[in-house]
Amino acid sequence: MTNTLDAFATMKLAALDAAALRRRVRSVAREMDAVVVRDGVRLISFSCNDYLNLSQHPAVIAASVEATRRYGVGAGASRLVTGDHPLYRGLEERLAGLKGTADAVVFGSGYLANIGIIPALVGPGDAVFVDELAHACIGAGAKLSGAAVVRFAHNDVADLCRVMAGSVFRHAIIATDGVFSMDGDVAPIAALAAVAAERGAWLMSDDAHGIGVLDDGRGSPHAGVALQMGTLSKAVGGYGGYLCASAPVCALIRNRARSFVYTTGLPPGVVAAAAAALDVMAADAALCARPVTLARLFTDAAGLPAAQSPIVPLVLGSAAAALAGQAALEAAGFLVAAIRPPTVPAGTARLRFAFSAAHREADVMRLASVVRTRVMGAG
Ligand code: PMP
Repeated sequence: MTNTLDAFATMKLAALDAAALRRRVRSVAREMDAVVVRDGVRLISFSCNDYLNLSQHPAVIAASVEATRRYGVGAGASRLVTGDHPLYRGLEERLAGLKGTADAVVFGSGYLANIGIIPALVGPGDAVFVDELAHACIGAGAKLSGAAVVRFAHNDVADLCRVMAGSVFRHAIIATDGVFSMDGDVAPIAALAAVAAERGAWLMSDDAHGIGVLDDGRGSPHAGVALQMGTLSKAVGGYGGYLCASAPVCALIRNRARSFVYTTGLPPGVVAAAAAALDVMAADAALCARPVTLARLFTDAAGLPAAQSPIVPLVLGSAAAALAGQAALEAAGFLVAAIRPPTVPAGTARLRFAFSAAHREADVMRLASVVRTRVMGAG
Protein backbone atom coordinates (compact mmCIF):
# COMPACT_ATOMS: atom_id res chain seq x y z
CA MET A 1 0.00 0.00 0.00
CA THR A 2 1.59 3.27 -1.07
CA ASN A 3 -0.47 5.53 1.12
CA THR A 4 -1.51 4.05 4.42
CA LEU A 5 -3.72 7.00 5.31
CA ASP A 6 -5.84 6.42 2.21
CA ALA A 7 -5.94 2.70 3.02
CA PHE A 8 -7.11 3.52 6.54
CA ALA A 9 -9.84 5.84 5.28
CA THR A 10 -10.99 3.32 2.67
CA MET A 11 -11.23 0.57 5.27
CA LYS A 12 -13.21 2.80 7.65
CA LEU A 13 -15.61 3.81 4.87
CA ALA A 14 -16.14 0.17 3.90
CA ALA A 15 -17.15 -0.59 7.49
CA LEU A 16 -19.63 2.31 7.44
CA ASP A 17 -21.04 1.08 4.12
CA ALA A 18 -21.45 -2.45 5.49
CA ALA A 19 -23.46 -1.11 8.46
CA ALA A 20 -25.63 1.21 6.30
CA LEU A 21 -24.07 4.09 8.26
CA ARG A 22 -22.14 5.87 5.53
CA ARG A 23 -23.26 9.43 5.05
CA ARG A 24 -22.83 11.73 2.10
CA VAL A 25 -23.21 15.44 1.66
CA ARG A 26 -25.90 15.99 -0.98
CA SER A 27 -26.55 19.32 -2.53
CA VAL A 28 -29.99 20.64 -1.60
CA ALA A 29 -31.30 23.90 -3.03
CA ARG A 30 -33.92 25.40 -0.73
CA GLU A 31 -36.56 27.26 -2.69
CA MET A 32 -39.43 29.29 -1.29
CA ASP A 33 -41.31 27.92 1.68
CA ALA A 34 -40.52 24.29 2.42
CA VAL A 35 -39.75 23.22 -1.14
CA VAL A 36 -36.25 21.95 -1.92
CA VAL A 37 -34.61 20.58 -5.05
CA ARG A 38 -32.23 17.65 -4.63
CA ASP A 39 -30.69 15.82 -7.57
CA GLY A 40 -33.11 17.63 -9.85
CA VAL A 41 -36.16 16.44 -7.88
CA ARG A 42 -38.54 18.85 -6.11
CA LEU A 43 -39.51 17.69 -2.64
CA ILE A 44 -41.37 19.16 0.31
CA SER A 45 -38.85 19.17 3.11
CA PHE A 46 -39.70 18.07 6.62
CA SER A 47 -36.02 18.09 7.52
CA CYS A 48 -35.19 21.78 7.87
CA ASN A 49 -34.79 23.38 11.29
CA ASP A 50 -35.81 26.78 9.94
CA TYR A 51 -39.04 26.38 11.94
CA LEU A 52 -40.40 29.85 11.28
CA ASN A 53 -39.05 30.13 7.73
CA LEU A 54 -37.27 33.29 8.84
CA SER A 55 -34.28 32.53 6.62
CA GLN A 56 -36.55 33.63 3.77
CA HIS A 57 -38.37 36.49 5.49
CA PRO A 58 -38.12 39.73 3.43
CA ALA A 59 -37.32 41.92 6.46
CA VAL A 60 -34.61 39.52 7.63
CA ILE A 61 -33.03 39.35 4.19
CA ALA A 62 -33.21 43.14 3.84
CA ALA A 63 -31.49 43.66 7.20
CA SER A 64 -28.74 41.27 6.22
CA VAL A 65 -28.16 42.89 2.84
CA GLU A 66 -28.15 46.37 4.36
CA ALA A 67 -25.60 45.36 7.03
CA THR A 68 -23.40 43.71 4.45
CA ARG A 69 -23.41 46.81 2.28
CA ARG A 70 -22.64 49.03 5.23
CA TYR A 71 -20.01 46.95 7.08
CA GLY A 72 -18.76 44.41 4.53
CA VAL A 73 -19.00 40.63 4.49
CA GLY A 74 -16.67 39.74 7.36
CA ALA A 75 -15.97 40.86 10.91
CA GLY A 76 -12.26 41.04 10.21
CA ALA A 77 -11.08 39.87 13.63
CA SER A 78 -12.19 38.23 16.84
CA ARG A 79 -14.68 40.22 18.87
CA LEU A 80 -12.16 41.13 21.57
CA VAL A 81 -9.85 42.67 18.97
CA THR A 82 -11.79 44.63 16.31
CA GLY A 83 -14.56 42.21 15.28
CA ASP A 84 -17.24 43.56 17.63
CA HIS A 85 -19.13 45.56 15.02
CA PRO A 86 -21.97 47.82 16.27
CA LEU A 87 -24.70 45.28 15.40
CA TYR A 88 -23.67 42.81 18.07
CA ARG A 89 -24.90 44.84 21.01
CA GLY A 90 -28.43 45.08 19.64
CA LEU A 91 -28.56 41.33 19.08
CA GLU A 92 -27.32 40.53 22.58
CA GLU A 93 -29.81 42.97 24.11
CA ARG A 94 -32.67 41.37 22.21
CA LEU A 95 -31.62 37.88 23.34
CA ALA A 96 -31.28 38.92 26.97
CA GLY A 97 -34.70 40.59 26.77
CA LEU A 98 -36.31 37.50 25.27
CA LYS A 99 -34.81 35.19 27.88
CA GLY A 100 -35.18 37.54 30.85
CA THR A 101 -31.47 37.71 31.73
CA ALA A 102 -29.21 40.65 32.50
CA ASP A 103 -26.88 39.93 29.60
CA ALA A 104 -26.17 37.65 26.64
CA VAL A 105 -23.09 36.57 24.68
CA VAL A 106 -23.25 35.65 20.99
CA PHE A 107 -20.90 32.97 19.66
CA GLY A 108 -20.07 31.84 16.13
CA SER A 109 -22.42 28.85 16.41
CA GLY A 110 -24.28 26.75 18.93
CA TYR A 111 -21.56 24.13 18.78
CA LEU A 112 -18.92 26.77 19.52
CA ALA A 113 -21.03 28.06 22.41
CA ASN A 114 -21.21 24.70 24.11
CA ILE A 115 -17.55 23.84 23.67
CA GLY A 116 -16.65 27.27 25.05
CA ILE A 117 -19.08 27.77 27.94
CA ILE A 118 -18.58 24.50 29.79
CA PRO A 119 -14.74 24.50 29.91
CA ALA A 120 -14.81 28.18 30.92
CA LEU A 121 -16.74 27.29 34.07
CA VAL A 122 -15.62 23.82 35.18
CA GLY A 123 -12.46 21.75 35.09
CA PRO A 124 -10.66 18.93 36.88
CA GLY A 125 -12.22 18.31 40.31
CA ASP A 126 -15.63 19.44 39.01
CA ALA A 127 -18.43 17.44 37.38
CA VAL A 128 -20.83 17.80 34.46
CA PHE A 129 -24.03 15.77 34.73
CA VAL A 130 -25.43 15.34 31.23
CA ASP A 131 -28.74 13.89 30.05
CA GLU A 132 -27.81 10.84 27.97
CA LEU A 133 -29.69 12.19 24.93
CA ALA A 134 -28.36 15.74 25.12
CA HIS A 135 -26.77 17.10 21.95
CA ALA A 136 -23.30 15.95 20.96
CA CYS A 137 -21.74 19.39 21.45
CA ILE A 138 -22.69 19.42 25.15
CA GLY A 139 -20.78 16.17 25.51
CA ALA A 140 -17.88 17.65 23.55
CA GLY A 141 -17.76 20.73 25.80
CA ALA A 142 -17.97 18.61 28.93
CA LYS A 143 -15.15 16.37 27.73
CA LEU A 144 -12.95 19.33 26.80
CA SER A 145 -13.41 20.83 30.26
CA GLY A 146 -11.52 18.03 32.03
CA ALA A 147 -14.33 17.74 34.60
CA ALA A 148 -15.82 14.32 35.34
CA VAL A 149 -18.59 13.68 32.80
CA VAL A 150 -21.49 11.71 34.27
CA ARG A 151 -24.51 10.74 32.17
CA PHE A 152 -27.97 10.38 33.66
CA ALA A 153 -30.91 8.52 32.13
CA HIS A 154 -32.96 10.61 29.73
CA ASN A 155 -35.29 13.07 31.53
CA ASP A 156 -34.94 10.94 34.68
CA VAL A 157 -34.57 13.25 37.68
CA ALA A 158 -34.36 10.34 40.13
CA ASP A 159 -31.41 8.95 38.17
CA LEU A 160 -29.77 12.39 38.23
CA CYS A 161 -30.11 12.46 42.03
CA ARG A 162 -28.66 8.96 42.22
CA VAL A 163 -25.56 9.76 40.12
CA MET A 164 -25.03 13.07 41.94
CA ALA A 165 -25.19 11.32 45.29
CA GLY A 166 -22.46 8.97 44.08
CA SER A 167 -20.13 11.76 42.92
CA VAL A 168 -17.70 14.04 44.66
CA PHE A 169 -17.26 17.45 43.06
CA ARG A 170 -16.37 21.04 43.80
CA HIS A 171 -18.52 22.75 41.17
CA ALA A 172 -21.05 21.01 38.97
CA ILE A 173 -23.08 21.77 35.86
CA ILE A 174 -26.28 19.88 35.10
CA ALA A 175 -26.69 20.04 31.33
CA THR A 176 -29.71 19.15 29.23
CA ASP A 177 -31.38 20.04 25.97
CA GLY A 178 -34.54 22.12 26.55
CA VAL A 179 -36.17 20.39 23.56
CA PHE A 180 -34.33 17.21 22.55
CA SER A 181 -33.09 17.48 19.01
CA MET A 182 -33.76 13.93 17.87
CA ASP A 183 -36.74 13.08 20.12
CA GLY A 184 -38.70 16.33 20.23
CA ASP A 185 -39.55 15.92 23.91
CA VAL A 186 -39.05 18.59 26.54
CA ALA A 187 -36.79 18.47 29.60
CA PRO A 188 -38.34 18.58 33.11
CA ILE A 189 -36.67 21.94 33.75
CA ALA A 190 -38.50 22.78 37.01
CA ALA A 191 -37.49 19.47 38.60
CA LEU A 192 -33.92 19.77 37.33
CA ALA A 193 -33.75 23.33 38.68
CA ALA A 194 -34.89 22.09 42.09
CA VAL A 195 -32.11 19.46 42.15
CA ALA A 196 -29.57 22.05 41.00
CA ALA A 197 -30.62 24.44 43.76
CA GLU A 198 -30.51 21.74 46.41
CA ARG A 199 -27.08 20.46 45.38
CA GLY A 200 -25.55 23.86 44.61
CA ALA A 201 -25.09 22.90 40.94
CA TRP A 202 -25.51 25.19 37.93
CA LEU A 203 -28.28 24.24 35.50
CA MET A 204 -27.56 24.66 31.80
CA SER A 205 -30.22 24.25 29.14
CA ASP A 206 -29.55 24.05 25.41
CA ASP A 207 -32.70 25.52 23.90
CA ALA A 208 -31.60 25.24 20.27
CA HIS A 209 -34.98 23.75 19.33
CA GLY A 210 -37.16 25.69 21.77
CA ILE A 211 -36.37 29.33 21.01
CA GLY A 212 -38.89 30.79 18.62
CA VAL A 213 -41.37 27.93 18.84
CA LEU A 214 -42.39 27.39 22.48
CA ASP A 215 -44.02 29.91 24.83
CA ASP A 216 -44.63 32.62 22.19
CA GLY A 217 -41.02 32.33 21.07
CA ARG A 218 -39.38 32.56 24.48
CA GLY A 219 -38.54 28.86 24.33
CA SER A 220 -38.64 26.09 26.88
CA PRO A 221 -38.98 27.00 30.57
CA HIS A 222 -36.04 28.81 32.08
CA ALA A 223 -36.82 29.52 35.73
CA GLY A 224 -33.81 28.32 37.69
CA VAL A 225 -31.66 27.88 34.56
CA ALA A 226 -28.42 29.79 35.24
CA LEU A 227 -26.99 29.10 31.79
CA GLN A 228 -29.50 29.50 28.94
CA MET A 229 -27.74 28.49 25.78
CA GLY A 230 -29.11 28.12 22.27
CA THR A 231 -28.57 28.68 18.60
CA LEU A 232 -29.57 31.25 16.02
CA SER A 233 -29.47 28.61 13.28
CA LYS A 234 -32.91 27.05 13.69
CA ALA A 235 -36.09 29.07 14.35
CA VAL A 236 -34.07 32.29 14.20
CA GLY A 237 -33.21 31.29 10.66
CA GLY A 238 -29.53 32.22 10.35
CA TYR A 239 -26.36 31.26 12.12
CA GLY A 240 -24.68 31.79 15.49
CA GLY A 241 -25.02 30.64 19.08
CA TYR A 242 -25.80 32.41 22.33
CA LEU A 243 -25.61 32.26 26.08
CA CYS A 244 -28.11 34.25 28.15
CA ALA A 245 -27.00 34.60 31.76
CA SER A 246 -26.17 37.10 34.49
CA ALA A 247 -23.80 40.01 33.85
CA PRO A 248 -20.81 38.48 35.73
CA VAL A 249 -21.23 35.11 34.04
CA CYS A 250 -21.37 36.70 30.59
CA ALA A 251 -18.34 38.85 31.38
CA LEU A 252 -16.41 35.78 32.52
CA ILE A 253 -17.41 33.91 29.37
CA ARG A 254 -16.15 36.78 27.20
CA ASN A 255 -12.82 36.45 28.99
CA ARG A 256 -12.50 32.69 29.32
CA ALA A 257 -14.44 30.82 26.64
CA ARG A 258 -11.80 29.85 24.12
CA SER A 259 -14.32 29.46 21.29
CA PHE A 260 -15.32 33.09 21.91
CA VAL A 261 -11.85 34.55 22.41
CA TYR A 262 -9.92 32.80 19.65
CA THR A 263 -12.30 32.91 16.72
CA THR A 264 -13.45 35.59 14.30
CA GLY A 265 -16.72 37.42 14.97
CA LEU A 266 -19.78 36.58 12.91
CA PRO A 267 -20.25 38.47 9.64
CA PRO A 268 -22.28 41.69 10.11
CA GLY A 269 -25.01 40.45 7.76
CA VAL A 270 -25.50 37.36 9.92
CA VAL A 271 -25.81 39.38 13.12
CA ALA A 272 -28.24 41.84 11.53
CA ALA A 273 -30.36 38.99 10.19
CA ALA A 274 -30.67 37.42 13.65
CA ALA A 275 -31.67 40.73 15.24
CA ALA A 276 -34.32 41.28 12.54
CA ALA A 277 -35.58 37.71 12.94
CA LEU A 278 -35.99 38.22 16.70
CA ASP A 279 -38.05 41.34 15.96
CA VAL A 280 -40.33 39.36 13.63
CA MET A 281 -40.76 36.69 16.31
CA ALA A 282 -41.53 39.25 19.01
CA ALA A 283 -44.28 40.79 16.87
CA ASP A 284 -45.97 37.57 15.77
CA ALA A 285 -46.95 35.05 18.44
CA ALA A 286 -49.18 33.20 15.96
CA LEU A 287 -46.18 32.55 13.72
CA CYS A 288 -44.24 31.16 16.70
CA ALA A 289 -47.09 28.80 17.59
CA ARG A 290 -47.64 27.41 14.10
CA PRO A 291 -44.85 24.76 13.90
CA VAL A 292 -46.07 22.97 17.04
CA THR A 293 -49.69 23.23 15.87
CA LEU A 294 -48.73 21.54 12.59
CA ALA A 295 -46.65 18.90 14.39
CA ARG A 296 -49.74 18.06 16.50
CA LEU A 297 -51.91 17.90 13.41
CA PHE A 298 -49.43 15.36 12.04
CA THR A 299 -49.14 13.25 15.19
CA ASP A 300 -52.95 13.15 15.55
CA ALA A 301 -53.41 12.12 11.93
CA ALA A 302 -50.59 9.55 11.97
CA GLY A 303 -51.66 8.04 15.30
CA LEU A 304 -48.42 9.00 17.07
CA PRO A 305 -47.99 10.43 20.61
CA ALA A 306 -48.86 14.15 20.65
CA ALA A 307 -45.96 16.35 19.56
CA GLN A 308 -44.39 18.49 22.30
CA SER A 309 -42.33 20.57 19.88
CA PRO A 310 -41.89 20.94 16.09
CA ILE A 311 -39.80 17.72 16.12
CA VAL A 312 -41.48 14.34 15.77
CA PRO A 313 -39.45 11.12 15.77
CA LEU A 314 -40.60 7.84 14.26
CA VAL A 315 -38.17 5.22 15.55
CA LEU A 316 -37.77 2.38 13.06
CA GLY A 317 -34.83 0.51 14.64
CA SER A 318 -32.16 -0.43 12.15
CA ALA A 319 -30.30 2.02 9.95
CA ALA A 320 -31.53 0.07 6.91
CA ALA A 321 -35.17 0.43 8.01
CA ALA A 322 -34.73 4.17 8.47
CA LEU A 323 -33.21 4.48 5.00
CA ALA A 324 -36.09 2.46 3.53
CA GLY A 325 -38.57 4.81 5.25
CA GLN A 326 -36.73 7.81 3.85
CA ALA A 327 -36.86 6.32 0.34
CA ALA A 328 -40.59 5.55 0.61
CA LEU A 329 -41.33 9.16 1.59
CA GLU A 330 -39.06 10.51 -1.11
CA ALA A 331 -41.01 8.51 -3.69
CA ALA A 332 -44.12 10.34 -2.45
CA GLY A 333 -42.46 13.75 -2.81
CA PHE A 334 -41.25 14.34 0.76
CA LEU A 335 -37.74 14.88 2.05
CA VAL A 336 -37.47 13.39 5.54
CA ALA A 337 -33.94 12.53 6.58
CA ALA A 338 -33.16 9.17 8.16
CA ILE A 339 -31.24 9.71 11.38
CA ARG A 340 -28.79 6.95 12.18
CA PRO A 341 -26.16 6.19 14.83
CA PRO A 342 -24.01 7.81 16.10
CA THR A 343 -26.43 10.74 16.01
CA VAL A 344 -28.93 8.51 17.86
CA PRO A 345 -28.25 5.39 19.99
CA ALA A 346 -27.75 2.08 18.16
CA GLY A 347 -31.03 0.32 17.38
CA THR A 348 -33.03 3.58 17.40
CA ALA A 349 -32.47 4.79 13.83
CA ARG A 350 -35.46 6.88 12.90
CA LEU A 351 -37.21 9.30 10.66
CA ARG A 352 -37.16 12.78 12.16
CA PHE A 353 -39.92 15.12 11.02
CA ALA A 354 -39.40 18.85 11.54
CA PHE A 355 -42.44 21.07 11.09
CA SER A 356 -42.24 24.62 9.90
CA ALA A 357 -44.59 27.58 9.74
CA ALA A 358 -44.10 27.37 5.97
CA HIS A 359 -45.84 23.99 5.66
CA ARG A 360 -49.40 23.81 4.37
CA GLU A 361 -51.98 21.80 6.34
CA ALA A 362 -52.83 19.78 3.22
CA ASP A 363 -49.20 18.67 2.83
CA VAL A 364 -49.00 17.74 6.50
CA MET A 365 -52.13 15.60 6.18
CA ARG A 366 -50.85 13.91 3.03
CA LEU A 367 -47.53 13.22 4.77
CA ALA A 368 -49.37 11.63 7.70
CA SER A 369 -51.32 9.40 5.35
CA VAL A 370 -48.19 8.31 3.45
CA VAL A 371 -46.38 7.63 6.73
CA ARG A 372 -49.26 5.45 7.94
CA THR A 373 -49.59 3.45 4.75
CA ARG A 374 -46.06 3.20 3.45
CA VAL A 375 -43.84 3.45 6.54
CA MET A 376 -45.88 2.23 9.50
CA GLY A 377 -47.82 -0.19 7.29
CA ALA A 378 -50.95 0.69 9.23
CA GLY A 379 -53.20 0.95 6.17
N1 PMP B 1 -27.57 22.10 20.32
C1 PMP B 1 -28.55 21.39 19.77
C2 PMP B 1 -29.57 20.77 20.68
C3 PMP B 1 -28.60 21.23 18.39
O1 PMP B 1 -29.57 20.49 17.82
C4 PMP B 1 -27.63 21.84 17.59
C5 PMP B 1 -27.66 21.77 16.07
N2 PMP B 1 -27.78 20.56 15.51
C6 PMP B 1 -26.62 22.55 18.20
C7 PMP B 1 -26.63 22.69 19.57
C8 PMP B 1 -25.54 23.20 17.41
O2 PMP B 1 -25.94 24.44 16.96
P1 PMP B 1 -25.27 25.08 15.66
O3 PMP B 1 -25.85 24.38 14.49
O4 PMP B 1 -25.61 26.51 15.76
O5 PMP B 1 -23.79 24.83 15.79
